[in-house]
Amino acid sequence: MIKFLDLQKVTQLHIDEINEAIQRVINSGWYLQGKEVQTFEEQYAAYIGTRHCIGVGNGLDALRLILRAYIELGIMKEGDEIIVPANTYIASILAISDNNLKPVLVEPDIETLQIDPSKIENAITDKTKAIMIVHLYGRCAYNESVANLCKQYGLKLIEDNAQAHGCQYKNKRTGSLGDAAGHSFYPGKNLGALGDAGAVTTNDLTLADCVRTLANYGSSRKYIFTYQGFNSRLDEIQAAVLSIKLRYLDEENQKRKGIAKLYLENIRHHDIVLPIVDNWDSNVFHIFPTLTTQRDKLQKYLSDQDIRTLIHYPIPPHKQTCYTAWNELSFPITEKIHEQELSLPISAVMNKNQATKITETINRWK
Ligand SMILES: *Cc1c(COP(=O)(O)O)cnc(C)c1O
Repeated sequence: MIKFLDLQKVTQLHIDEINEAIQRVINSGWYLQGKEVQTFEEQYAAYIGTRHCIGVGNGLDALRLILRAYIELGIMKEGDEIIVPANTYIASILAISDNNLKPVLVEPDIETLQIDPSKIENAITDKTKAIMIVHLYGRCAYNESVANLCKQYGLKLIEDNAQAHGCQYKNKRTGSLGDAAGHSFYPGKNLGALGDAGAVTTNDLTLADCVRTLANYGSSRKYIFTYQGFNSRLDEIQAAVLSIKLRYLDEENQKRKGIAKLYLENIRHHDIVLPIVDNWDSNVFHIFPTLTTQRDKLQKYLSDQDIRTLIHYPIPPHKQTCYTAWNELSFPITEKIHEQELSLPISAVMNKNQATKITETINRWK
């Protein structure tokens, strides 16, 4: 059977180093706000190419904290609007609405599956304060037109980099392209912890200090509380594991690209649309998304041949019960993606034989 993602194997790749690191933290007697977190923050900031990195509890919190910090700093206020792709994972949108900001959904481009820059300008009002781009499926969503719109309208550019660790735009990494970025180290992500973990990266020292304070009860000095903050910290064990896995991230992303190349060169089917790759540096293939009008049939066919696939995602955010006010809105491209998307297995622990078996099975599909 070919799993969608074999996390046990992923961890086994570096098991000795991971065991050693965990033992080291256990024996140290120091579990939060210590040198493991500090080391990881420095290494990750250097990797992404930002001056600051703040380890936090998870990816959703990273995004919530960025927006909350902008509110505390007087840059945004309740009711302000944030532009976000309509086809993103729900967390990007939750981070906005949780702060009493208004998510403004913008359709993606059907070829890139990323927010369509040509549709952003129409969505900008005098309440718009930021564009949140999401490097969905591991593909870079940043481009000059998004950057120009931010400049022209004085908007913050926030990146949701939960799916794109290591992805590049020209010579810069995603997570360093805008004003601030949220990262998730959920176990299944390209850089995954052994539990929940996340980070904020930014070059803005004021923002970085505010995020760090907010994530620690609103306190920057013990028992002095500047903000009504919350508790969202990266712990020492996860940080130690992440420091190890960060060393192998580029190599593992290369393995993902090898699988993607094999699929792209060999899958041939009249009813399956494969992702378009215009730049191999700008895609780290967190997901390998395909589109087909017979999605559910294809998924069942592959499952019958012991190949597991997933749908990213089955129901678009505007059709969810948590956002009933949007349920009657129409986003045809987003809806089409949610009806047709099927993700093939891709990971650093998949081998060529498995990818070839998947390819041949798909090519035989009638
Ligand atoms: C995983 C993910 C998040 C949330 O990360 P968690 O660590 O699970 O909170 C946010 N945005 C996107 C696009 C994601 O894929």
